[in-house]
Amino acid sequence: MSLAANPPTRPQEQARQRRRPARADVEAAVRLLIEWTGDDPDREGLVDTPARVVRAYEDFFEGYNSDPAEILGRTFEETNDYDDMILLRNMRLESHCEHHIVPIIGKIHVAYLPAGRVVGISKLARVVEVFAKRLQIQESLTSQIAETIQDVLRPRGVAVLIEAAHMCMTTRGVRKPGITMTTRRLLGDFQSDPDLRREFLSAVAAPSETFG
Ligand SMILES: [Zn+2]
Repeated sequence: MSLAANPPTRPQEQARQRRRPARADVEAAVRLLIEWTGDDPDREGLVDTPARVVRAYEDFFEGYNSDPAEILGRTFEETNDYDDMILLRNMRLESHCEHHIVPIIGKIHVAYLPAGRVVGISKLARVVEVFAKRLQIQESLTSQIAETIQDVLRPRGVAVLIEAAHMCMTTRGVRKPGITMTTRRLLGDFQSDPDLRREFLSAVAAPSETFG
């Protein structure tokens, strides 16, 4: 297990406000990369590739356009005193490593212990997506998600666990397919209470069923 040390949200929130280069310049940069591979950017199959790559980047890195704290802003206080663990398990995670800009694919589990208010589950999934759709290392991604939920929702604790494969490790470099990396960030009661931590880890490890 590796635990993150990077300071999370702030630098990323500053980065997302940076001015973007012109689309034509970015397409020219992609064309240059194609030339760098040794191929001909003017052949039929490649001629529209720079424009496609730029559109793909808009999708992959859409997370710079949203503020995760804002997403969690709307909470519900009518919970009939529900105060036990809320766990979103086995969400698919797709991100890109900031060192090679290739995919990180895995799954993520997010849990929190509400203190009087809860947030819609789609909002939690959206926060994961906003951070995932940025250039990341898995350690920072894990911390940013946990700390944002803790800061905005103020629950009694947050636990985030990510298990993912890094294409920069499986398809290039050391070429180790099948290896996954696990990171976790435990805050509040999940950090201080070993029973709770065990409960989270065993809930996450339990076999899952698909409904609906
Ligand atoms: Zn990488």
